[in-house]
Amino acid sequence: MSDHLMNTYMRQAVTFVKGEGVWLWDTAGEKYLDALAGVAVNGLGHAHPKLVKAISEQAAKLIHVSNYYHIAEQAALADKLCEVSGMDKVFFCNSGCEANEASIKLARLYGHNKGISNPEIIVMDKSFHGRTMATLSATGNRKVQAGFEPLVSGFIRVPYDDIEAVKQVATRNANVVAILVEPVQGEGGINIPKDASAYLATLRQICDAQGWLLMLDEVQTGIGRTGTWFAFQHSNIKPDVMSLAKGLGSGVPIGACVASGRAAEVLTYGKHGSTFGGNPLACAAGLATLQAIEQEGLCKNAEKMGNLIRLGFEAEFKNSPEVLAVRNSGLMIGIELDRPCGSLVKMALEAKLLINVTADKVVRLLPPLVINESEANELVQRLAKLIKTFLNS
Ligand SMILES: *Cc1c(COP(=O)(O)O)cnc(C)c1O
Repeated sequence: MSDHLMNTYMRQAVTFVKGEGVWLWDTAGEKYLDALAGVAVNGLGHAHPKLVKAISEQAAKLIHVSNYYHIAEQAALADKLCEVSGMDKVFFCNSGCEANEASIKLARLYGHNKGISNPEIIVMDKSFHGRTMATLSATGNRKVQAGFEPLVSGFIRVPYDDIEAVKQVATRNANVVAILVEPVQGEGGINIPKDASAYLATLRQICDAQGWLLMLDEVQTGIGRTGTWFAFQHSNIKPDVMSLAKGLGSGVPIGACVASGRAAEVLTYGKHGSTFGGNPLACAAGLATLQAIEQEGLCKNAEKMGNLIRLGFEAEFKNSPEVLAVRNSGLMIGIELDRPCGSLVKMALEAKLLINVTADKVVRLLPPLVINESEANELVQRLAKLIKTFLNS
């Protein structure tokens, strides 16, 4: 370990050296089941042959030029993203917070173009949008913001899954230009709206009636994670703006702000940019990721395996009142306990299993989309045993 790394992470005492599918190996040759996938990044699992081939071939040809020139791989990935989303235009960046920054800039410019000089964006309690100044200001978690004041202004916060609260804002605030919301809250604790499809549909109606943009943060929910390409596809609506990152490049850093209709025309020449954004290597990774998901039916697999895992945990915990809820949307899975359970992460690591705990009491699982039935069953068996031990200790 180095003394020269800023102390920004609570790291587990392990170093991984290689991976294959849902499995990882550490420096001692020990094998782990990866139920976190680099926080929803490694959807194809580790060392997927199609991804390795695409990246290697692209690296040998051209890694980076600049957005001063046409980039064929970027155009191809934009076309593919629009094909699978039904949306119109894409701006490429390098991460989730940058994708949200682009969405926020787009919304503000949209407002200014309408003559609103102090545009405001509705955001949610318990949301997570990133750690840049604008995105941490949009985030609904004081821990992320504390110490970084003054925050960026122009955000109005309402409770998640509360349509009435949004309507209230509409009646008293003429400066609102957009709603920014996660279809399922990830960092916030795998929070799924009671009727997720109706929630988005109603937000869509309100946005249409008010002339607001509906902006979905699909950084975690996107790219097959919830059983469809994007979580909004569980409903009949389309957003104006959608931010993507995490699973898009399978670990090669890439983010995207995707827009449709009038929103797709807002960011024009000179209004936004990125040095690395959409470079040939990252876009080759993105394209290979989308192609593999399509060819291997991984959206369907995420739906099937996610439900199988939830049913498995429900059966394991049917006599455990300490387990308050098991919920999932595809392979976004949360197990909510009645007590803080951060120490489960280390217990799981010792049992050769990678998991995460978020929102204090929620075990969060984000396994690779390629997980198969026997691996899913093994995940349930290993983790259920650990949680029972934890609850009895
Ligand atoms: C992870 C995440 C982000 C931030 O992405 P970074 O790549 O870490 O900047 C933003 N929004 C959501 C919903 C996320 O899950």
